[in-house]
Amino acid sequence: MIRCFIGLGSNLDDPISQVMSACQALGQLPDSELVTVSSLYSSKPVGPQDQPDFINAVAMLDTWLTAEALLDALQAQEQAQGRVRRRHWGERSIDLDLLLYGQHTIQTERLIVPHKELTSRSFVVVPILEIAPLLALPNGQKLDLLPCAEDPTLIRLSSPVIDL
Ligand code: ATP
Ligand code: CA
Ligand code: CA
Repeated sequence: MIRCFIGLGSNLDDPISQVMSACQALGQLPDSELVTVSSLYSSKPVGPQDQPDFINAVAMLDTWLTAEALLDALQAQEQAQGRVRRRHWGERSIDLDLLLYGQHTIQTERLIVPHKELTSRSFVVVPILEIAPLLALPNGQKLDLLPCAEDPTLIRLSSPVIDL
């Protein structure tokens, strides 16, 4: 099995419920086991600033699915939750990013893993460190000590909310 990390984000249509629904869907994926989910966090948007703050979390999933099949499943879930593409880095009901797929490095037209912004986004780094404090990236880099982890605009809202 491959241990994956999936980033969840929402800033539309009851974002906390959107993130929780997506977590429940991750728990139902075939040939996969949802291991744990981080706390919920509130973060400022990375794109246009005239949109609501985001709710973010990171899920740890063990899976036998290929990375492509997992991306298919994540995109299908985005559609099921009514994601509409409005503008680049704009508001969305749910965004599901494949952050890490074991220690694999993937570069295809559809998929770049590790996610290209993984190490620069506090709303990804901090929840990953919460659930996997010793994690090393495929390049051997450790995630702790990254300056972005000090982001004062990132607020931890809750303990993990998912019944596994
Ligand atoms: P960002 O990628 O900066 O977080 P975004 O999440 O808003 O931006 P999307 O519009 O959700 O971007 O996705 C655009 C495309 O990114 C998708 O169609 C998908 O094929 C591609 N993509 C590449 N690598 C990944 C990945 N690791 N996880 C999810 N999608 C990816
Ligand atoms: Ca994203
Ligand atoms: Ca995405």
